[in-house]
Amino acid sequence: MLVDQDLCIGCGECVPYCPVGAISMQGDLAVIDFDECVECANCQRCAPCPTEAFVQQELVWPRVIRSIMSNVLVVAPNTGIPGRGTEEMKTNDVTGRFKRGWLGVGIEMGRPIVGARFRDVQKVAMAVAELGVEFEAMNPVTAVMADPRTGKMNPEILDEKVYSAIIEFAIPEDKFPDLMTIVERVSEEVDTVFSLEISARCLPGGDLATTPLLEKYGCWAAPNGKTCLGLGKPPAKE
Ligand code: SF4
Ligand code: SF4
Repeated sequence: MLVDQDLCIGCGECVPYCPVGAISMQGDLAVIDFDECVECANCQRCAPCPTEAFVQQELVWPRVIRSIMSNVLVVAPNTGIPGRGTEEMKTNDVTGRFKRGWLGVGIEMGRPIVGARFRDVQKVAMAVAELGVEFEAMNPVTAVMADPRTGKMNPEILDEKVYSAIIEFAIPEDKFPDLMTIVERVSEEVDTVFSLEISARCLPGGDLATTPLLEKYGCWAAPNGKTCLGLGKPPAKE
């Protein structure tokens, strides 16, 4: 994103609208830090700029990956939906993607203020690949891996910064302790934050299969956080 400096009148209204703090006022002009900008287009879409000074430059590879991962209106080419993950992960109880005894895992890197560079996404992906996981083929992060067996990313994108990126895969429940060991280790090696999302089929009585697993690590499971039954569709058959 660029600011047309002939149009900017220096009102400063746009500054708080940037989720990664890439806009600053320099004298009487708004200036975008091009390396920090994740191309989310929030400034152009949401900031009340009185002169419509934001200009979206043509986005070409590899920079276009910033927009695919950060702009909520951009449809990822391989998933066909806007957003950074896959829909099935959130609607598991109707799609049945993850069978009983398996956990769907999303590692969501970045989010407001810090964002994430693909260099760090690669570190986490390569660490969890040690478990022998198969990365979700329909996920946009998997699509930019040079080697989905090892989690190695296309080297052209390592310095690209995005609002967030979600690494998706599934593991058998009994691999959960190994996953936690790896995640704790690699969390010390990355220059951003990430959260771990776990999906599993609800137990027949409605309880969450993940609660006892998380409690072992002192984590609290929100029972209604992202339990999505899929707009009236019936639960997936066993
Ligand atoms: S496109 Fe997004 S990241 Fe870039 S300056 Fe605008 S709000 Fe900030
Ligand atoms: S809102 Fe528009 S005019 Fe005001 S500082 Fe930002 S870019 Fe310049």
